[in-house]
Amino acid sequence: MSRFDPILTSKALWQIRVQKRPFVLSHAVNTRCNMKCSFCDYWKKSGEEPAKEEIFKLLDDAREFGIGVYNAWIVEPLLRKDLPQIMAHAKKLGMITSMVTNGKLLYERAEELEDVDYLSVSVDGVKSYKEIRKMDFETLMKGLKKAIEVRKLQNKKNPILMNCVLTGKNLDDIETLILLAKKLEVKISFEPVHRFPGISEEVWNDIGIHDMEKFRCTVDRIIELKEEGYPIINSKTYLRMVREGEMNYICRASGIIMNVTHDGTLETCRVQNEPLGNVMWDGFESVWENSEDRRKEIVKDCKGCLFFGYTENSLMQSLNPEVIMHYEWM
Ligand code: SF4
Repeated sequence: MSRFDPILTSKALWQIRVQKRPFVLSHAVNTRCNMKCSFCDYWKKSGEEPAKEEIFKLLDDAREFGIGVYNAWIVEPLLRKDLPQIMAHAKKLGMITSMVTNGKLLYERAEELEDVDYLSVSVDGVKSYKEIRKMDFETLMKGLKKAIEVRKLQNKKNPILMNCVLTGKNLDDIETLILLAKKLEVKISFEPVHRFPGISEEVWNDIGIHDMEKFRCTVDRIIELKEEGYPIINSKTYLRMVREGEMNYICRASGIIMNVTHDGTLETCRVQNEPLGNVMWDGFESVWENSEDRRKEIVKDCKGCLFFGYTENSLMQSLNPEVIMHYEWM
């Protein structure tokens, strides 16, 4: 929810603070990916993709429950041919729409994304990109530049977001990426690589952040460039937490964002995967109300995470003034 849109902000506050329900539905719109990144767990899971009609029904129910933002997320939304119809349905219901893509199909499908308000593209490096993503950086740029052009022609007011996961492999590329974001007139976000349980020791040795001094210097530079006005969406509070690996915030993520898998299962977040009920079978209201105690326990026992969407939104809901001033995405 953009803090610059008073109507949307008041709807979100009503839903989250008064109704005590989440405002964002983050949905696993499909079950496949066209990349196999070593640090990612999602493409390893299998399952049957929901039919378009099932998603329409899910969106109708979500709207009734008070959801105002639909985020088509894992695994790779652009692999769904009918994605434009799904986004159009969410827009027809009055929702804000967003999606996250690895960008591999962006060149082919940029024109079809007219109903996507917030488009986020994973850009995890420049020189290191190919090693991390197994695709040429030039291929990604071709798609990204086309999407930028198309969105200008479509009069989209929100610039594209390049989201970058900081790993042990891309720290030398970060400043170049920030300069590139400015040149392309897009925004950029950072978050540290998360060690999911499925990541092997070997992969973690390869991709994890081990040189902490270099990592801290890189995050300091991100903060400096943010202060100089570069288009970095993260708050300084969050970036300082990333620098220190501090996760000492009160997690409010599950009260803001509903994570729903491809088969309708509600999970607390993308880390805590315990099933809390099925919103496609039992409805949003019943699953939400019946899972209240368990959700609280899961969050209480959680050791924390530093995914920017969860952390920044939690800090915002805790009324952290610097985050309210400087965090610039939804
Ligand atoms: S802090 Fe824990 S419960 Fe909250 S979003 Fe992160 S992993 Fe999930």
